[in-house]
Amino acid sequence: MTEELRINQDRLWRRLMRMAEIGATPAGGSCRVALTEEDRQGRDLFIEWCRTLGCEIRIDRMGNIFAQRPGIDPERLPIACGSHLDTQPHGGKFDGVYGVLAGVEIFETLNDQGIETAAPLEICVWTNEEGSRFAPPMISSGVFGGTYDLDYGLSREDADGITLGEALEGIGYAGALPCGDHRLGAFLEAHIEQGPILERQAETIGVVIGVQGSRWYRVTFHGQDAHTGSTPMAGRRDALVSAAHTIGAVRKIAEQQAPSAVATVGRIDCLPNSHNTIPGEVALTVDMRHATVDTLDIMETQLHEAVNAAAHREGTEAEIQRIMATPPVHFDARCIEAVAEAARELGYSHRHMLSGAGHDACHVARVAPTSMIFVPCAGGLSHNEAESATPEDLAAGANVLLKAMLKLAR
Ligand SMILES: [Zn+2]
Repeated sequence: MTEELRINQDRLWRRLMRMAEIGATPAGGSCRVALTEEDRQGRDLFIEWCRTLGCEIRIDRMGNIFAQRPGIDPERLPIACGSHLDTQPHGGKFDGVYGVLAGVEIFETLNDQGIETAAPLEICVWTNEEGSRFAPPMISSGVFGGTYDLDYGLSREDADGITLGEALEGIGYAGALPCGDHRLGAFLEAHIEQGPILERQAETIGVVIGVQGSRWYRVTFHGQDAHTGSTPMAGRRDALVSAAHTIGAVRKIAEQQAPSAVATVGRIDCLPNSHNTIPGEVALTVDMRHATVDTLDIMETQLHEAVNAAAHREGTEAEIQRIMATPPVHFDARCIEAVAEAARELGYSHRHMLSGAGHDACHVARVAPTSMIFVPCAGGLSHNEAESATPEDLAAGANVLLKAMLKLAR
């Protein structure tokens, strides 16, 4: 019987559109920045839907919400899905929201069919995933997973000096449950891909096996300010020329590991930034990502070589600081297999892939067996009001999620 079980595509779509009305933007997106009045309304609506479906609601100290559908065996840990309801200021209708509302649709489908599961099922809503109001992003799944401690999480401040803890109290979502005490038997996060791979390959489901690691650096070149007219070309110590060589080298470092590595110089601070002065000091950021620590180490060594060569050529002095390192995440083999099997049995085209972006699942993976399901989004675009996905693809992802959860909850 479960072989024919499918979620209701229209009902999932209607809920997505209803949630998108909260904080709707003129260009067709949503603005529900973490712990604002719009975020509160979104949470309230989610809880109202879950209560109607018979769920028990728990809220932890970081404001994470857990909506549980009881199982037959109360000893079993819940098999969970979910994601986040907060958005970027110019966010879309699907990033995060999809993973949460797919869970609501799954619960309603199971209720309609009168299907009980051995383990309880659960939907998680993680607070402040986007990080646009409180840095860092994914802070509350991070506290849940033990990456950060609770005091650190609650003391994060927004631009107005309001702490995350105060903002939680302000919208009535400072729960009593100690963050991290609530244990999960598994966690599956369904999400739009936020990249172009599935769309380009005309595939429906991404079976996400892990998330690439990232390293951020700040590179500074010290040269010498001098007059652009009266200083001969020979003997100049132009920090921006050293930076330019580095930018070219960073691109090559990623290309040598193609197609699995990415590397970007995203920002340059040039001093004195004047039309007729040779730049004496330039700092640039380097962001390098790959799925393995070994390759990240190789890329880091190559970055040092490239920076030193760029400094040497131009007679500048170089400094390299590593300002952040996030290790690669490898998801749980059983959870990956449950998703792959579900996609196969449902007849959806699928591929195993890595996530380029960070997700709540990265932190949850530290304390519970975890994997993710990706569905295509138009042009790979996200963090954009024009973010778009088709009702059919969203339904396919939810069907895979349903089937994978049933396998794990047996
Ligand atoms: Zn997201």
